[in-house]
Amino acid sequence: MGAPVFTSVSALLDDLGITEPDELDLNVIAQHCCATVLYKPLEGCAARISGAGDRAIITVDSGSKIERQRFSVGHELGHWMFDRGKMSLLACAESVFIREWSNQNPETRANRYASDLLMPVSMFKPRAQPLKRIDFDAVKSMARIFKTSISATAIRLVEHGPLPAILVCSRPGGIEWTAPKKKDFKLWVQQPGPYSYAYDILNGNKEEGSGDVPASAWFDHPLAASHTVHEHSIKGFQDFVLSLLWWRDETMLIELDEYEERQDARRSDWRD
Ligand SMILES: [Zn+2]
Repeated sequence: MGAPVFTSVSALLDDLGITEPDELDLNVIAQHCCATVLYKPLEGCAARISGAGDRAIITVDSGSKIERQRFSVGHELGHWMFDRGKMSLLACAESVFIREWSNQNPETRANRYASDLLMPVSMFKPRAQPLKRIDFDAVKSMARIFKTSISATAIRLVEHGPLPAILVCSRPGGIEWTAPKKKDFKLWVQQPGPYSYAYDILNGNKEEGSGDVPASAWFDHPLAASHTVHEHSIKGFQDFVLSLLWWRDETMLIELDEYEERQDARRSDWRD
């Protein structure tokens, strides 16, 4: 009998009877999928997987933080589920965990798998529901429950949290990615301007900053000039800056819907 393939995380968790965050023991879950996890110092990558037949060995850098190690196991399990047979040895760098969120490729799929495994939506949503703000303090409170990294938890929170917010990863050269993805979002995020906290961090003047900022510091849109967003920015991995933008006041989003409707109406008038 071959090793079970669980391309659906919920099927895997159901199979194991896991319903609570503290039951998410990655070693046990990996073992269930015929993968053994080893922890030892690695150089040049955060984790790797070698598969032979129905067995895999996942090696995780013992020098990295617990949250990162957990994510690495989830990521390599994602490769094991989707890329089995196409790989004999695969090494994944830490930068992959930070950067590969926007494109459709095996690394993104492995990151998604890790995220679904470490923060199952069915467990995440009810625990995020009582949150009153979307900032990195809220992210940290969720990260403590799920033993996950700040960046992975922040992505989860903007996608499954109770309040409207987006996460932007920028670096001095431009926007690296946003969550939700750009195409799913009506506003065009631009390189953070001087009125943003991210600007100060990108220019090396600060490590962290939060407060209300003009929406025009972040969005290239006619409506941005008359609204504010709440920004909390922190220095991330290497020269990356992570910014959580949360609409404390949702008027801008309501006006944005109306604006879109007017634009659509105008476009159809033009065609008639
Ligand atoms: Zn990978």
